[in-house]
Amino acid sequence: MYLILITCDMKKVIYIAIVSVIAIFCLQGLWITNMYRAYVAQSVGTMQRAMSTSIGKEIAFRRHGSPYKDSKHPKIVHKAVGDMTLEERSQLKGDTLDLDLLTQKNIGSNLSEVLVQLMQDELIKEGKYILLPKLDSIFSQELKKIDVVANHCILLYNKDTTIMNSIGTLPVSEKQVGTTRLFPIGTKGLQFIQVKADISLSPFLRDMLFILMESILLVLIILGCVVYLVIMIRRKDKLFKQREASVNGTVHDLKSPLNNVITLMSYLKKKLPEESLQKLLEDTAGQAKGLVNDIEALLVTARRDRQRISLQKTETDLLQLIGHARESIAAQYRGKPHQIILESEWKEVKLTLDSLYITNVIRNLLENALKYSDDGVKVIIKVRKKHREVTLAVEDDGWGIEKKYQKKIFTQFFQVPREQVAHQHGYGVGLAYTKYIMEAHGGSISVDSEPGKGSVFICRFPIE
Ligand code: ADP
Repeated sequence: MYLILITCDMKKVIYIAIVSVIAIFCLQGLWITNMYRAYVAQSVGTMQRAMSTSIGKEIAFRRHGSPYKDSKHPKIVHKAVGDMTLEERSQLKGDTLDLDLLTQKNIGSNLSEVLVQLMQDELIKEGKYILLPKLDSIFSQELKKIDVVANHCILLYNKDTTIMNSIGTLPVSEKQVGTTRLFPIGTKGLQFIQVKADISLSPFLRDMLFILMESILLVLIILGCVVYLVIMIRRKDKLFKQREASVNGTVHDLKSPLNNVITLMSYLKKKLPEESLQKLLEDTAGQAKGLVNDIEALLVTARRDRQRISLQKTETDLLQLIGHARESIAAQYRGKPHQIILESEWKEVKLTLDSLYITNVIRNLLENALKYSDDGVKVIIKVRKKHREVTLAVEDDGWGIEKKYQKKIFTQFFQVPREQVAHQHGYGVGLAYTKYIMEAHGGSISVDSEPGKGSVFICRFPIE
């Protein structure tokens, strides 16, 4: 049973490990994609700043002068219109600028930018259009200054955003590239500049490579460990199965000589005249029966997941089985002062069951009551009939079982930890076997116990 459980759990653990590794890769992929997007946005931002500077430099080149020094230009007044008196406003010449509107239209966000745009207007009016080759060379120099290598092209759009002209090494139709915003040339929105750039992945990959390699290495180490563990567990599993098979075989082979010895002893008992010798033989036979019972329990519980138990059900008197079990336990525990009392309102309780297995169940419960108690223990067996079931309760005034262990005692190999080692008896299979046999009969078993006061084990048999 444990082996199968281990195999099931192992499969689950392997699936979890594989899913986790896939999840790690997906998260890494997502993280890298986000990082790449951030990198592209950052690169586009850098290009926008470079283009903004380049446009400023290009216009300076085209104009050879400054509006502030030009006597032909009207004086520029830095005051909001709302703050002026009517008199002041009547003295103003030329146009007034609505900075909010210009910002909205993306023409300029501050006065100096707007002034540059006004210069653009003036130059365009004079027929001095933007010089794309010059702008390109200034832009390339700007990029070089900040160590950005990008295959790019500069596009000139008209007011309907159709391309009028372009310059650069990157084909205009290229789609998977970073694109800057449209830079308006002048305040009238007649021309726009835009940069398309194939943002180089190498600096990004360079930064990412170390982290990527590290995580791939870690994931590979984890995978390696999981694979190694799986191989080791499989090997151990195989070894364990082989060992289990040989132990089960040996244990099984022990059963028949023991049964022969028991038969021989009961034969000899009848032949021997001395009562003391008869008792000795009876005790030894009782112990041998106990051992056969333990062997049976071990074998049945070990095979339970591979092989369903086959029951030989016949109509049997439960009270008769209790009698047999009681006799054999009494013989086995002759050395321990005890009392086993049977309480039943009925002289006969007929049930359809496998008498061999149910005798073992009753034996187990009686034996436990005697094993886990002090001398002079009183064991009461109560048989009751309820609507559609018969209950068999084995009650003792022994050591009892703590609440926290009451569920666990029905699992294979579990033994209640006792302070004194001498108080640990058996192999922890008796109750697992008892539960299995009861369930195979469509019944159940439960326990009610209090440490220091005693326990009561209740078996429920359905009436078919
Ligand atoms: P074992 O072969 O060790 O007796 P069992 O499966 O029969 O295994 O019992 C499991 C544990 O339950 C035992 O270790 C014992 O401590 C506890 N136990 C079972 N029956 C009783 C009882 N009547 N009184 C106190 N403890 C009990």
